Amino acid sequence: QATVTDTYDVVVVGSGAGAMSAAIFAADQGMSVLIVEKGAKYGGTSALSGGGIWVPNNHFFKARGGDDSYEKAWTYLKASVGDEVDEARLKAYLDNAPKMIKYLQDNTRLNYTVAEKYPDYYQHLPGAAVGGRTLDPELFDTTALGDEVDNLMPASPTTLLMGKIAWTARHAHKAMARERGWRLLLIWLMLRYKLDFKQRRKTKRDRRAALGNALIASLRASLMDRNVPLWLNTDFRELIETDGRISGVIVEREGKEQLIQVRKGVILGSGGFEQNQALRDKYLPKPTRVEWSATPPGQNTGAALEAGQAIGAATSLLDWGWWAPTISVPKENKARGVFAERAFPGAIVVNGEGKRFVNEAVGYLEFVDEMYKDNAKTNGKTIPAWVVFDSKFRFNYAMGPLMPSQVMPDSRLPKAWHKTVYWKADTLEGLASEIGVDGAGLKQTVERVNRFAASGNDEDFQRGGNPFDRYYGDSNVKPNPCMAPIQKGPFYAMRMDAGDIGSKGGLLTNEKGCVVREDGSEIKGLYAIGNCSASVMGKTYPGAGATLGPAMTFGYIAVNDLARQS
Ligand code: FAD
Repeated sequence: QATVTDTYDVVVVGSGAGAMSAAIFAADQGMSVLIVEKGAKYGGTSALSGGGIWVPNNHFFKARGGDDSYEKAWTYLKASVGDEVDEARLKAYLDNAPKMIKYLQDNTRLNYTVAEKYPDYYQHLPGAAVGGRTLDPELFDTTALGDEVDNLMPASPTTLLMGKIAWTARHAHKAMARERGWRLLLIWLMLRYKLDFKQRRKTKRDRRAALGNALIASLRASLMDRNVPLWLNTDFRELIETDGRISGVIVEREGKEQLIQVRKGVILGSGGFEQNQALRDKYLPKPTRVEWSATPPGQNTGAALEAGQAIGAATSLLDWGWWAPTISVPKENKARGVFAERAFPGAIVVNGEGKRFVNEAVGYLEFVDEMYKDNAKTNGKTIPAWVVFDSKFRFNYAMGPLMPSQVMPDSRLPKAWHKTVYWKADTLEGLASEIGVDGAGLKQTVERVNRFAASGNDEDFQRGGNPFDRYYGDSNVKPNPCMAPIQKGPFYAMRMDAGDIGSKGGLLTNEKGCVVREDGSEIKGLYAIGNCSASVMGKTYPGAGATLGPAMTFGYIAVNDLARQS
């Protein structure tokens, strides 16, 4: 029997962006609220992320004269998601996402800006925008957090310049696409970091938090402004239902089980189940490995899913992930997502037959979905897949942890990375035999791609054929910024796994964010947001920020629903 220790209006489980936003909304509506977080740090995957949120028809873009409307956004969202998700939920998202971000921007320390040129991912669909729907965090000065900065989940080195320097998505894009002035920008960022003597004496950590870290740090500081308690190392276990309503949660804290009672409700924001191999085996397509996930190890193990199922909650989309191809690096505790580099000109991805199977530049969800489809066709020869490039590509561009050889030559790469992270050979045949790929197939593919690079027309997969592909292309490369020949040895290959940045299925909710049973009836007082809920985006990823945007928006919706209850 767990001891009753506390009573709050609302308990929020997890400390990702959705959960923390929900706690702010609840506090601002006059509710007493507690956040419980299992980890020793707060922020979850959200803190490691890019922090981008997809908010069609937002006020930032409108203020700049941007062209978007509710109707256009609806056309696109419906064309993307189809009938997989109830229309009332889709509409709730479109109605509330702009309100949610306006509220946070006006009333908290969160500070976003619009990515005017970041295109939606499905450019072929009606209503797709070429920019203005993704919002990105500005840098956030963590001085505001005081000592609480030490409890912030450190940013993933992949999201920082040289693994340590804070930069915005705008800066990162400028450098990656090698737009005019990118070198000067890098020098300025490096100098600003180095010349922050006070901070450099203390730590390597940049004073400024960036991307997902900026999002989480600004939310945490805003929660501190409101004196909202956040308990770390507190493991949510079970939901308690009394007279048809959720009346509390059982958590384990300091080795003891405690019952925390709620007057109004519980908002589950404890992430997906991607860190639980048994649940992956049970639900996700095969092969699937916990090690391929880019999310923090051991945290999102499906506690909300199992607790919800135990009291009769319906579920949906459990066989889907927020897929992203990943590369594993020795001594790193999680895999690295490969998001932008697939669009750089001169790298292709092949299966074990040495054949391409996808437009490499597509969104990461589609990329892995195609990996699974091709893996079924090739009888298991597409997972892992291999990204192949030549020494010219290697000189100019990054790929996963390999920085361009002009700044990080092979001689400076850790020895342990050879034949674990990258493979290298003087000829394509040699490379193919090193990685166990069909040599003749690879040679043929490269010859074909080299012809496409010359004409600019990828006859097989239309790579570079739309603004989304070209967003991460190299604007200096003509005629197609995403295509270049592969011809100058030595040649390189890197292994790509069918990874994820979270699972996508979970507890089924309605348009109020309330968890429902199989018959559609509400479990009163129980809400689920983020990756512990079945995604409002169905089986799709319409634009950058389509996971965090809904997590935060349904937090907003759930709290408004709670506020309406007596
Ligand atoms: P999380 O942020 O993972 O938070 C869940 C929290 O719940 C964790 O802190 C966890 O410890 C805690 N928890 C779990 N179980 C329990 C329990 N039993 N008791 C208490 N607490 C518990 N998405 C975007 O939309 N935009 C981006 O720019 C973007 N970039 C990304 C970049 C990278 C490198 C990665 C890896 C992901 C990115 N994503 C992005 C995906 C996004 O980060 C996740 O989908 C999102 O963070 C999920 O939010 P969440 O709140 O559901 O889970």
